[in-house]
Amino acid sequence: MKQSLLNRISEHVYWLDPDASTDRPTLGAVVGRQATVIVDAGNSPAHANLLLSELAKLELTKPRYLVLTHWHWDHVFGVSAFDAPIVAHNETRRAMKAMTGLDWSDEALDRRVEEGTEIEFCRDMIKAEWPDRSNLRFKLPDLSFATQLEFDLGGVRCQVKHVGGDHASDSSIVYVPEDCIVFLSDCLYEDLHHGPRNYTTKKLFPLIDEIVSYDADYYVWGHNPEPMPNTEMKEFAQLLRSIGEHVEQTGDNRELILYALQGTSSKDLDDDSLEILDAFLAGLRNKELMET
Ligand SMILES: [Zn+2]
Repeated sequence: MKQSLLNRISEHVYWLDPDASTDRPTLGAVVGRQATVIVDAGNSPAHANLLLSELAKLELTKPRYLVLTHWHWDHVFGVSAFDAPIVAHNETRRAMKAMTGLDWSDEALDRRVEEGTEIEFCRDMIKAEWPDRSNLRFKLPDLSFATQLEFDLGGVRCQVKHVGGDHASDSSIVYVPEDCIVFLSDCLYEDLHHGPRNYTTKKLFPLIDEIVSYDADYYVWGHNPEPMPNTEMKEFAQLLRSIGEHVEQTGDNRELILYALQGTSSKDLDDDSLEILDAFLAGLRNKELMET
């Protein structure tokens, strides 16, 4: 067997590292005796083909289905490289249909950033990953679902479940019960598309409750360099909840919340906690803006 860039996390589950330099997300493969399910298409055909060639080196069962976790460009722009039927949530399909009608040239992207309908970060990463997009072709999901579906791949199952959240309302996770692995993709990240990065307690709290309820050894994130072990996930969920609760109780008063969170500790809050706090505060301001 030749060396592969794929990481193997459990008996049936493989993943390809994300690459922050052009915002390539983690891609996954769940390999059963009869079939392989791919998790996310990647952010270009080049990215998709890297996954496919690394899988081919391992001589595993052929990809039978491609599952998309949400509509964001970095998870779907690679679709044209796959022969397998594409499976996604109804809302993901709807959003991708809207994307097929858009012009993805540099000029059009620049214009949308100016209008405020695209964000600078995505524009810059799209240009960096795929400078000549004249051959960009979308393929829409062949199968779509409303709540969840399950594949039996032979000796291992793959459950795809819509979970929503702040990052994208169409977010789905992929759970592999036999191996205790959850592909979270981006569902626990902030919303990037409405002003500063933001979280809302209304969407995040039920989502973290659901995520920690899985019998999981590892959680594979869309853009984190390493999968997160269960104990670390529980600690992270607790941190999100505690900061969110402070924001809910105190309102838009950063100083007071910082003081409360710090408690008797002489150490300053770490950068991650400060980012979470600022995301909840941004979510609160968005909500107030919508209510006025
Ligand atoms: Zn995303």
